[in-house]
Amino acid sequence: MATEQFPITWITETWEHGVPWQFTRQTVQKYEAAISRHGQAVRWIQSILCPRVQPGMGQHDPTCPLCAGRGRIYQPPPTVSIYQELAKQLAPGQLTPKYTPIVGTPRVWHQKQTINISAVQPSPWNYIAFDPPYPSLWNTLFVDYQFSPLIQVIGENSSVIATNVLQTIATQQISVGQNYSATVATVTGVQNITKDEVYTVASTSLNLIYLDSMGTWAPGDVLSVDYSYVLPYTFVLLGISVNMQWLSPYEMENADALLVTPGWAKISSGDLFTPLSAVQSDSQVIDPRQTGPTGMDTVKNVFDIKAIDRILLYSGVEASSSDYQLFGRNQIQWLSNKPMQPYTLQFRFNPTFVALPNVQSLRYAENKVLANRTSLVYYNKASQAEANFG
Ligand SMILES: [Zn+2]
Repeated sequence: MATEQFPITWITETWEHGVPWQFTRQTVQKYEAAISRHGQAVRWIQSILCPRVQPGMGQHDPTCPLCAGRGRIYQPPPTVSIYQELAKQLAPGQLTPKYTPIVGTPRVWHQKQTINISAVQPSPWNYIAFDPPYPSLWNTLFVDYQFSPLIQVIGENSSVIATNVLQTIATQQISVGQNYSATVATVTGVQNITKDEVYTVASTSLNLIYLDSMGTWAPGDVLSVDYSYVLPYTFVLLGISVNMQWLSPYEMENADALLVTPGWAKISSGDLFTPLSAVQSDSQVIDPRQTGPTGMDTVKNVFDIKAIDRILLYSGVEASSSDYQLFGRNQIQWLSNKPMQPYTLQFRFNPTFVALPNVQSLRYAENKVLANRTSLVYYNKASQAEANFG
């Protein structure tokens, strides 16, 4: 690869993470520019193996309380590391990086001089506070930091959409004219302010909170909710063509798509990625007899259902939409009149991809701290392969 010229040349000898830092900075900026042009909101879910899975024992217990028989536990993603972002102070002693909230301890410097950050930082950590003397406002500073996709919301006035079901407001993201729902991660409190009652949470799903009961709640009562949610990332997701397979040696042979992330996203094999702008329709025949009269039905090979359009019963009659609801990402909960014969579920879903085990060093002409490339396969392909294996 030819040597490139860099616009700023006043440091030449400082090496970061084993590479001259100008290389890092310029390439990060190129990736950031590419992501702002071609990126799309992608929901990232981290996946770890269930500790109760015993290797070589075939099918995992479908009633496992940790993983519901999936064999994997899904949880919010880890932090993303950003190296050598160029940043300026918006006010003296306050530096605002591109991605927040910040976690861990960032490192800020100007030329070769480290800037001292304050011992006490703002909460939530959405800018970095310095100790005086402050660098000049004209100086371009460099910052290494990590950010978390988890956003905390305290005391939101929640909206009730059905008995025991609350819809969170802050999770409704507006991006380029489209609505994206962020995902509730944890709920730390639900309180009826009007009646001075505290409610317990049964589960969460996408932007919904399910309660065990709502006490003496009546329309007009104010519900206050404390929770955190996972903000979708903007990543570049590319379908892999035959041409790309030939030209790009870092791709896995069986990959369907390639995910490009800024900074250093710690992606593990089995993690799930859902582009939120892509919605597809499908239908599936489900046999509810497997889960009995009270159990929830799971939609196979689909992870992220957006909406149920209709349920057609064995008798040819359509089920009433008040009899069932979407639970979690791919389960049907029957509230009443659960049928005991197969039914057809017609639904819309966001296609989900699964990360393949990647060898991160399989790159060419680039250094390691930069944008990740991760090879992905379709979720339905991966889960079908798992089912055949099990
Ligand atoms: Zn399990």
